[in-house]
Amino acid sequence: MSGITRLPRPMLENYEWQQRGLCRGSDVEQFFTDDPDQSRKARNDRTEAAKAVCAGCPVVQQCLDHALRVPEPYGIWGGSTASERARMLWDVAG
Ligand code: SF4
Repeated sequence: MSGITRLPRPMLENYEWQQRGLCRGSDVEQFFTDDPDQSRKARNDRTEAAKAVCAGCPVVQQCLDHALRVPEPYGIWGGSTASERARMLWDVAG
């Protein structure tokens, strides 16, 4: 899953929504909470803070759709964690 062939072609219409994300310009570390060296509390706090930003984001649905389609293996996208997206995809496939 580390290759880039899974990503949409680099055309503006595939990524334009990202220009409107509330997370744009914020600390990227807040949205990538998968660091195994951090405590559970630190990970939960960062995850909840990132999800709170996503909750007010005007492109949350586009972001989640993208993360499920690609799929994005890490980080908070569209208000969901990687494990939550894995469950969503599992439920759809099931
Ligand atoms: S939904 Fe969250 S991760 Fe996606 S663009 Fe908006 S703020 Fe960023």
